[in-house]
Amino acid sequence: MTKKQEVALKIYDEISKLYPNARCELNYHKDYELLIAIMLSAQTTDQAVNKVTDRLFEKYDSLVSIEKASTEEIENDIRNLGLYRNKAKNIKNTVDIIINKYSGMIPKTQVELESLPGVGRKTANVYLAEMHHVPRIAVDTHVSRVSIRLGFASKKATPLIIEKKLMSLFPQEYWISLHHKLIFFGRYFCTARKPNCKKCPIIEYCKMPEL
Ligand code: SF4
Repeated sequence: MTKKQEVALKIYDEISKLYPNARCELNYHKDYELLIAIMLSAQTTDQAVNKVTDRLFEKYDSLVSIEKASTEEIENDIRNLGLYRNKAKNIKNTVDIIINKYSGMIPKTQVELESLPGVGRKTANVYLAEMHHVPRIAVDTHVSRVSIRLGFASKKATPLIIEKKLMSLFPQEYWISLHHKLIFFGRYFCTARKPNCKKCPIIEYCKMPEL
C-alpha cells in the first residue's frame, strides 16, 4: 500500500465516524423510479427531488403511464425543479426507449444506460451502484469539491479524472460506501461556502482549510 493510499483510508475512517450510515437520500420503490429520481437530481437537492417524486410516482405508477403522458404534462408535474423542461423531455424519451427497445426493462450495462437521453456517466454510476451494487464511484459536485480539498485530485481535475483517482486510491469494496460518505461530508460538513474547518477531524490532511 502506498503512503497516499494509507492516508486515503485514514480519511475514510474519520469520515465514516461522522457519517456511519451515509446512503442514497433519494426516495424510490422501483428501478425506473430510481433512474428518474437520479435524472431529476441534476443541479438540485435530493430533498427538492423527493418532494416532487412523492407526487410524481403516485400519479404515474408504471412506465406505461409515463409513456402515455405528454411532455407538457410531465413538465408541469416537475416544474418546481430547475431545468424542468429538459428533464421532462429526457424522461419521456428515456421511457419510450426503455419500453420499445428494452421491453420495459431498464438496461444494466454502463454503455446502454449512457445511451439513454439525460443519462450520463454520473447518473449511470449512481444507478448501477444503488440498484445493482456494482462497484462505482459517482462524482458529483460534493465528491469533486471534497476530493480536491483533500488533495485526492488537482484543482483542474475533471469528474472522470477524479473518479479514476479515487478508484486508484481506495479498494474496490470501499467505492460505493465512499461515494455516499464523501457526499454526506460535502453536503453537511465540508460545504462549498462554509466548511466546518474548525471542527474538522481531517484538517491535518486538508490542502485548503479555511481558518
Ligand atoms: S479542513 Fe475544512 S475544507 Fe478541509 S476537509 Fe475539513 S472542512 Fe473541508
